[in-house]
Amino acid sequence: MTATENSAIAANLGRIKERIKLAAGRAGRRAEDVTIVAVSKTFPFEAIRSAHDAGLRHFGENRVQEWESKQPRVANLGATWHLIGHLQGNKARRAASLFDRVDSVDSLAIAQKLDAAFAVDHTGEKEEVTVAERGKQLPVLIEVRLSDETSKNGAKESDLPALAEGVVKLAHLQLLGLMTIPPFLDEPENVRPYFSKLRELRDDLALRLGQPLRVLSMGMSHDFEIAIEEGATEIRVGTRLFGERAAKT
Ligand SMILES: *Cc1c(COP(=O)(O)O)cnc(C)c1O
Repeated sequence: MTATENSAIAANLGRIKERIKLAAGRAGRRAEDVTIVAVSKTFPFEAIRSAHDAGLRHFGENRVQEWESKQPRVANLGATWHLIGHLQGNKARRAASLFDRVDSVDSLAIAQKLDAAFAVDHTGEKEEVTVAERGKQLPVLIEVRLSDETSKNGAKESDLPALAEGVVKLAHLQLLGLMTIPPFLDEPENVRPYFSKLRELRDDLALRLGQPLRVLSMGMSHDFEIAIEEGATEIRVGTRLFGERAAKT
């Protein structure tokens, strides 16, 4: 079943929130400290509107092109739009203007392209705008690949310190934290070590950089409760909110 109806999405959201509350409670955390990023990839803009009606304010899309086609239909909604999928260099400029956040930075080359895209003056009057002139930075997360089976994307753990140090030097980017996609394991409990690992990497990195890295984006439909127990501040939920996707992406 595909949920684009307000009532189905609202009911799904109610169940997700209940489970967030229980998971947060088990870890001595507050449900309000966990943000739901609604993953609307493959679903039509109506589904985004319904989810927004139900109260959601963060949305994740994994393809620049797909989002470009839906964005005009929902641009009037107040929300934070996250890119959560792998970004190719030739789409960095579009991504920087279409998304409010990029959660999937996995190389310095991509970070530099996003930084350069944000420095472009859209009026054409100046070669480059400063952060002060622009008035905001582009918030980003670094995606870390913690297992070879997971996906081809994400920075290797061994590359993380140097990458993070490079990213924080880029004036137009603001590094908020880390993201990961662990392997899909039938038993969500078995994913726990990946989540605790990401939290440890975040803690080490924050010390090294001397700045807080507030965001840990981890946990999807089938394992978000474990992620919350391990400290997730953002969970990315698609299937459990909108229903099964027609095609695997
Ligand atoms: C598709 C996707 C999700 C959501 O997955 P579900 O299992 O449907 O909740 C989360 N994060 C990323 C990066 C995705 O591509």
